[in-house]
This record gives sequence, C-alpha cells and structure tokens, in this order.
Amino acid sequence: MHSTISFWNKTASKAHYPPLEKSIEVDTLIIGGGITGVTAAYCLALKGKKPLLIEAGGLCDGTTGNTTGKVTIQHDIIYRRLKDKYGLDFAKGYADSQTRALEFIRKVVEKENIHCQLATCTSYIYATNEEDRESIQQEYEVAKELGIDAEWIDHFHFPNVNRGMVGFKNQHAFHAVRYVEGLAKAAAEKGATLCCGTKAIRVESGESIQVYCERDLVIKAKHLVMATQHPIFDGPNLYFTRLYANREYGIAVEAKRDWPDGNFINPGNPARSIRTHLENGKKILIAVGDGHFTARSEGGMEKHFENLMNFAGSIAGVENLLAKWSAQDYKTPDQVPYIGRNSDHSNIYVGTGYNKWGLTSGTLAGMMIADLILKGGTEYEAIYSRDRGDLFSSLGTVLSEVFGSVAELIKSKFETTESIKNLKQGEGRVIEYKGQKTGIFRDYDDSVTILDISCTHMTTELNFNDAEKTWDCPAHGGRFATDGTLLEGPPKNCLKVLYRGKFEDLQVK
Ligand SMILES: Cc1cc2nc3c(=O)[nH]c(=O)nc-3n(C[C@H](O)[C@H](O)[C@H](O)COP(=O)(O)OP(=O)(O)OC[C@H]3O[C@@H](n4cnc5c(N)ncnc54)[C@H](O)[C@@H]3O)c2cc1C
Repeated sequence: MHSTISFWNKTASKAHYPPLEKSIEVDTLIIGGGITGVTAAYCLALKGKKPLLIEAGGLCDGTTGNTTGKVTIQHDIIYRRLKDKYGLDFAKGYADSQTRALEFIRKVVEKENIHCQLATCTSYIYATNEEDRESIQQEYEVAKELGIDAEWIDHFHFPNVNRGMVGFKNQHAFHAVRYVEGLAKAAAEKGATLCCGTKAIRVESGESIQVYCERDLVIKAKHLVMATQHPIFDGPNLYFTRLYANREYGIAVEAKRDWPDGNFINPGNPARSIRTHLENGKKILIAVGDGHFTARSEGGMEKHFENLMNFAGSIAGVENLLAKWSAQDYKTPDQVPYIGRNSDHSNIYVGTGYNKWGLTSGTLAGMMIADLILKGGTEYEAIYSRDRGDLFSSLGTVLSEVFGSVAELIKSKFETTESIKNLKQGEGRVIEYKGQKTGIFRDYDDSVTILDISCTHMTTELNFNDAEKTWDCPAHGGRFATDGTLLEGPPKNCLKVLYRGKFEDLQVK
C-alpha cells in the first residue's frame, strides 16, 4: 500500500484546535493554517487584535507541512533576473524584504521559545554544468552589488557533480511544522482563535465580507486574509492565469556516509535541493526535487521518488528511508509572489505564488498583511503588487513553458481508453463508462469509484497521480481525492461520482 507523509508531519506533535461551532462576526478572518495564515494571526494578535483563523484540515496539512525547511533569501537564481527585468532597486527591495522575514523567524523562535531545530548554515547554489556555472557566477556578482554576504567557491567535493557554487552566509533551516505549531500556540495565547476542520466554501464581498463555510456556518468579517495558497476568491485578478501549480517530491533518509552541512540546490532540470536536519542528535539527509507542472509528468509519479533515492544514494548512500512526500506550490510569471490587497481599497488580502520559497515569502506575507490591516499600508507593497505588469512582460515564457504543452497532454489522453480487467488495487485509469470518458480508481478494500474527470474549474481532463492517489489538473493545478473530494487549487466544487461499489459488481461498456 502506498504511504506518503512528510518527515515533518510524521515527527511533530500537533495541538488540537476544535472546529468553529457557530456563525460569527469578527474583525479579521484568516483562511488557511500554513505559515502565511499563522504568521498573520501571530502579528495581529501581538498588536492586540483578536483574529479568527480557520483551516479546512489541521495546521500544516498544506504545503508548509511538506517543505524542505530551508529558511533563506537565496531563492535559486533570482537576483540577476530581477535586476535585468526591473532594475537594481527592485532586486534590493526583494532581498531586504526577504531578509526581514528571515530575521522575524530568528527573533520569534527566541522570543517564544519555539523548539523547531532552527540551525544557522550557508545556503549554496551549485552548478552541474558550464552554463549553470556562468549563471551562478552572475548571480554572485549581483548578490555582492546588493550587499548580500555571499562567497564564491570554485571547487567543492559535494555534491559529487558540483562545478562551482555561490554561498549565502547566515541562512537557516528548521522543522517547519514545529515552528508553525509554536507560532500558533503563541498567537492563541495572545488572543487569536484558531479553528481547524473548518472549510470555507464561498466568499461574498459587498458592503461587508461574508464567508460561507461547511456545515452552513457563515462568518462576517471586516478584513479577510486568504492564506490558502491558491486564493479562494478571485476578485478582478483571474489568478488562475498567473499562478502555475508545480509539484515536487521529497525524501528523508539516514545515510551511510557523512556529508557536509548546509543548504544546497542546483538550478535547471533536474533540480535537487538538499539539507541536513538533526533529529534527536541524529543526522538526517533531506533531498527534494524532480519538480514538474502539476499533472504533467510523463510516466508514473512513483519514479520521482526512485530518482531522489538514486540521487541520495549517489551523494551519501541510503541506509534507511524515513519518509517520502510530495506537495505543490505556485509560481508566478516573474518568480515574485503576490502579496497585498486583492484589489484597490479592498479589505481582502492575499499572499501567494511563492515559487517554492514560501517559508520566507509566506512569513513576509503574514507580516505585510498584518501591517495593511493595522496601519493601512506596508513597506515593499509595490514589489509584491499584483499590478506590477509581470504577466505581460513575461508572456513569452508563460506561453511556452506553462500553456504550451497542455493541449498536447489533453489530446493524447483522449486516445487512451483502457480495459479495466487487470486494474490493480491502488490503481487509477481513464476509461469509458456509459459512453463517457471517466476516471476509475480501485481501492485497497476492492471498492471502486468512477468519477467524471472534467475538472470542475474549467473542464480540463484530469490525470491520475499514482504517487499521491489523486486526480490532478494539468491546466491550473486543481487536485481531487479518489472519492471526488476537492483537495486544493482553484476549483470550487468536488467531482461528480458516477459509480461507487464493489469492483466485482462493475460492468463497464
Ligand atoms: C516540496 C516543496 C519544498 C519546499 N521547500 C521550501 C523551502 O525549503 N523553503 C521555502 O522557503 N519554501 C519551500 N517551499 C515552499 C513553501 O513550503 C510554501 O510556499 C509555503 O509553505 C506555503 O505556505 P502557505 O501558508 O501559503 O500555504 P499552505 O501551507 O499550503 O497553507 C494553506 C492552508 O490553507 C488551507 N485551505 C485551503 N483552502 C481552504 C479553505 N477553503 N478553507 C479553509 N482552509 C483552506 C489548506 O488546508 C492549507 O493548510 C517548498 C514547497 C514544496 C512544494
């Protein structure tokens, strides 16, 4: 039987926050219990506000619980690109704001005595070929121009494919779930209310903001923070055209050989992100990578875990696999998140598009949004503004990288209708059922579910993700469980169930 759970969710103990019981009116409602939402709750509570945070599942059930745990302003190759695109001041603003978030985490861990194994280390970006070496050297030059404490290292033995790297000093890594749990506890002690198991279904924004939740609950709020990764309310923004869901895989292993400490990543494809974590004094190797646009991976998803295991084996030898997981985050056209008001003068706020660097960007979003609510304005608003013209100026990249292959993917799927006689337990396939293209999943208890696999967002046909056992949308990253329940992304509704019953009772025409 498959089982994916991150090392962080596996090893953290989680406090119980009961669901919301009745409809309520509040000053500030935060939707989402990841690092963005919990940071906003903490910052507001610290200043005497009493925000309500609701979370569909448990805290850190989303991407925050499935991260690598690097806390760094070294975000792949970014500073050179930002300088080229928007100028040096913009790049400097990005670096300064991310440093602010890193310092916030450092200080809050100390102040609130949070036990999250915050380690100080250097964050390296290393080249595996000549082209990347040149890009990384340019990144180093721009980093120096920006005043970042960076070093160039021409030769280093780790990882074995290293052809030169730049290191940003005084960066961090931590256990993200323990950090967010600690932050949530501190927020609650200061006056925030947290309710897990409380899912928002719909947002209405007029004279006041009304959020409709499961179990017929309604929350009225003066301010609404959408900390849900993909915003659940669009306003004028059409976020699905500018947020691209990207999945990535992670493993935690005990290794046979020792390896140097630090945060390591290489640009390009396949990217590998490595770090050390200390658990009860024991060194754990974390390796993350094999990212791809959601639902757009050739062949089975399980192969991504194999690739990571082979990589970990090649750099340190694998003694024992402790955990494997996968998760998704959203990219924007220019690698810069959207943080701020959802539209001019609106009391709805958003933090999203962290490009897999949301431990600092999500922290920054929580801090900035709290400022917007408390003071009506915040530093760095222009940098993270949804109006910065990023989509237009990056349209070429978006069309070729993001939308280019969707049509091909969908087209090829229309050609494959398969028989289900040899459908194995834990397997999902696209089949014809009652003259319609559908998705079937055979569960481990031999029950089957047949779903209408037109995504409820924009009817794109879904692909089966055999690593996570989910139906994923290649267009905008919506994801559904095998019983049709909506898991994440821009769709609002679950999938239609066409058949549920025993495998042996099923007759497919
Ligand atoms: C494999 C991987 C590795 C990464 N590694 C790093 C790293 O090393 N460093 C780094 O800085 N970043 C990293 N990132 C990115 C980072 O983890 C994320 O950007 C960040 O955790 C996002 O936080 P969040 O709070 O915005 O979203 P989430 O953590 O996803 O939280 C959103 C929450 O909202 C809830 N929610 C959604 N809809 C509703 C609703 N309708 N009602 C109620 N609740 C709802 C969800 O259940 C979820 O818990 C990584 C990402 C991936 C995929």
